[in-house]
Amino acid sequence: MTATPFPASVYAARLERAVRMAGEAGLDAVIVGPGADLRYLLGVQGDTIERLTALVLGPGVQTTVVVPRMELAKVRDTAAGALGVRVADWVDGDDPYALVIETLPAGRPRVAVSDALPALHLIPIAERVGVNLELATPVLREGRMVKDAAEIAELRRAGAAIDAVHRRMREWLRAGRTEREVAADIAEAIVAEGHETVEFVIVGSGPNGADPHHEVSDRRIAPGDVVVVDIGGAVPSGYNSDSTRTYVVGSAAEESAERIAVLVRAQQAAVDAVRPGVTAAQVDAAARRVLSDAGLGEAFLHRTGHGIGVSVHEEPYIAPGNDLPLREGMAFSIEPGIYFAGEWGARIEDIVVVTADGCERLNVTDHALRAVG
Ligand code: ZN
Ligand code: ZN
Ligand code: ZN
Repeated sequence: MTATPFPASVYAARLERAVRMAGEAGLDAVIVGPGADLRYLLGVQGDTIERLTALVLGPGVQTTVVVPRMELAKVRDTAAGALGVRVADWVDGDDPYALVIETLPAGRPRVAVSDALPALHLIPIAERVGVNLELATPVLREGRMVKDAAEIAELRRAGAAIDAVHRRMREWLRAGRTEREVAADIAEAIVAEGHETVEFVIVGSGPNGADPHHEVSDRRIAPGDVVVVDIGGAVPSGYNSDSTRTYVVGSAAEESAERIAVLVRAQQAAVDAVRPGVTAAQVDAAARRVLSDAGLGEAFLHRTGHGIGVSVHEEPYIAPGNDLPLREGMAFSIEPGIYFAGEWGARIEDIVVVTADGCERLNVTDHALRAVG
């Protein structure tokens, strides 16, 4: 992984905002475990789960990274080094939790933890802090949700890379091959077209397309199959792509083609609904309405979308009941689908970024059902 995609000033601003938000939430300290939150705040995510890497920040503490010595150099290379963040390293035989606890203010501090801190570390920390811990999600969410120009540029780069893979789909997707064979070729292309890692490859042919979370199988693709291809990877900065197109091998049954045309309209209606001030639920409803009006409401079994950034799935979730107003810079998927159990399914997915008066689509390949060999 390239450690710091952005200049240290970007991480300084992110850390400052997290400290300020923690203060506004009445917290003394926030403990951030390995993973996307750490990567967002420092440019490094922690190499292993079983060895504790943690960032401690907040109005009541000196910002500190606790890190296994074997990863020390990597941390020094990142924003943590550039910003002079205090680093406390440890080796086997040391007590890494003591290094976290000693940064906290005396008394009964109010401490929150990032939502992905593994239970393996959470429980020893909770025992030592001796008070109830809370979740830092509200403190960390704000910064992660609203992307700045540099982050949007990375998401654009990721979007263009995955579009390049979809444009090549006829090279691999044809009757007689298994989903797994097709997926292996797609995975290779995901890297060849500019990603550093493959995050997921879904090839759902025929009845497998009716399961929104189907990945791949040894099913052989047959003439006339509708095939859902949902793929994504991370570019070297760690920002992700995620785009779905629905293909047909040869030509589709008339009813399927008609239903997919409705799905394309539903996806467009949701994209058209996006602008600052509109709620996530209203965007979801825009897609849902088109499908319901066509008698396909029951076939749309999941939420319309999810935020994306250094994680493939993050806030905001574009779902019924989410009254969060959209803001310029939020990035998320719009991916309505229709699923007919035991028969077939279809999904169309683009990543969009909210602009001052609407949104920018980061995936621009054809949305209509596309025929392959
Ligand atoms: Zn899902
Ligand atoms: Zn997807
Ligand atoms: Zn998605």
